[in-house]
Amino acid sequence: MLWLLCGPGGAMDGQALVIRIRVPDGAAVDWTVHSAPQLLFRDVLDVIGQVLPDATTTAFEYEDEDGDRITVRSDEEMKAMLSYYYSTVMEQQVNGQLIEPLQIYPRDCKPPGKRNYMASRYNFNNCFRKVRWICNAVFHLLKCQIKLHFLSSDKDVVTLFSLPLPSGDTRAAAANSGASAASEALPSNSLKKSSAELKKILANGQMNEQDIRYRDILGHGNGGTVYKAYHVRSGKILAVKVIPLDITLELQKQIMSELEILYKCDSSYIIGFYGAFFVENRISLCTEFMDGGSLDVYRKIPEHVLGRIAVAVVKGLTYLWSLKILHRDVKPSNMLVNTRGQVKLCDFGVSTQLVNSIAKTYVGTNAYMAPERISGEQYGIHSDVWSLGISFMELALGRFPYPQIQKNQGSLMPLQLLQCIVDEESPVLPAGEFSEPFVHFITQCMKKQPKERPAPEDLMGHPFVVQYNDGNAEVVSMWVCRMLEERRAQGAQ
Ligand code: ATP
Ligand code: MG
Repeated sequence: MLWLLCGPGGAMDGQALVIRIRVPDGAAVDWTVHSAPQLLFRDVLDVIGQVLPDATTTAFEYEDEDGDRITVRSDEEMKAMLSYYYSTVMEQQVNGQLIEPLQIYPRDCKPPGKRNYMASRYNFNNCFRKVRWICNAVFHLLKCQIKLHFLSSDKDVVTLFSLPLPSGDTRAAAANSGASAASEALPSNSLKKSSAELKKILANGQMNEQDIRYRDILGHGNGGTVYKAYHVRSGKILAVKVIPLDITLELQKQIMSELEILYKCDSSYIIGFYGAFFVENRISLCTEFMDGGSLDVYRKIPEHVLGRIAVAVVKGLTYLWSLKILHRDVKPSNMLVNTRGQVKLCDFGVSTQLVNSIAKTYVGTNAYMAPERISGEQYGIHSDVWSLGISFMELALGRFPYPQIQKNQGSLMPLQLLQCIVDEESPVLPAGEFSEPFVHFITQCMKKQPKERPAPEDLMGHPFVVQYNDGNAEVVSMWVCRMLEERRAQGAQ
């Protein structure tokens, strides 16, 4: 199990906090945490994400003394849950009772029903197989000890199996390295490490079709289809973009070599790239999966959330530009978010050959293109800055900023329809509805003359970006979680 040290003065000094994650069918996975004070809401969601890789869990619940379910959606609410739990632990200690684990219910899971688990052999076996698989995945990803207990209907805990600690107890490793308990032991760090390891393994050209199980379709674009997929060898969920391309072997090789630079991209504002491969006449590009999807499907985004998103997008673009990469396709559908509150850019044009090959099949002009690009003039960083401005204007208004342009499906349009972007004055955000720095930021980015638009350092130093450059990912995280829950509720109606 993952051992973290409990902070001084905690109600459970010296003792581990056991969080029992109740999964469907009444089974449960126990997770032992030794440093509850450092535990973040996000860490719990990460572990739930490993336990239930198919679900997008944005919240979880616990039961109060009356058996009412209380929802936890933030660090604050988690603190309240922990202090409630510690008070029950103290009572149990005073009364000499056995300390009960903290039971949590991932939001989508049904509460465990009262049933005799032996009565249904089929369900039991299925459940056991699934949970054993889950535990294996958690074990491999977190490198922690997992004990699997099964809770029977009369609340007896039956231990089904236990996966051992890897060689060198995590506690010992933390102590030996001299690193702080918080940075060594929090699950999010373990996950980060595993993600980096995965990237390393996959970057060695080991990504192939046989290891990928395609699941849901995440969306269709102008070139291909994006799938949510399961990578068998790493146990990780990926996003795989599959693009049909009828090209020669020579061009395929050229594309693969142009994509090499993606392995070197290392920024928290750029989507993680795991590998690419050709099978017959299609290329598959495997990237990090973002459970919040792209920004084009979110309606009007409030300014305080959009501000934090803008900071991430500006940092992502600045990073690409520092590598001499122009994005060339900045638009809301290429800005991805997740329930951790991270914002990442995807689909930037590193491979000219790939961009050209797709363009041969799909005709049309991108509505987010800068006026100079629509007119067929030279393209530079300034053109990305225009696309940034028009994208954020759309996200703020909840509609495309040029009312005469109806963007029904996708972003490609006949060139004539986009002529107004070249001919007319740029639209401006209504001052009464948005802050002065935000209105100014958009106005600067959408200057018709490319040279009048802000340079990378001016973007980072703009008061709108400076104001929201506070590292507060929780604002975006809570907003993404709320939107996903709303969407789910609407879908259920
Ligand atoms: P274009 O082909 O011009 O880039 P697009 O961005 O709308 O258009 P795709 O890039 O094919 O189309 O993506 C389709 C959809 O798949 C996106 O809108 C997004 O919702 C989803 N998607 C893409 N990549 C990911 C990812 N890494 N994680 C989660 N969802 C993704
Ligand atoms: Mg895209």
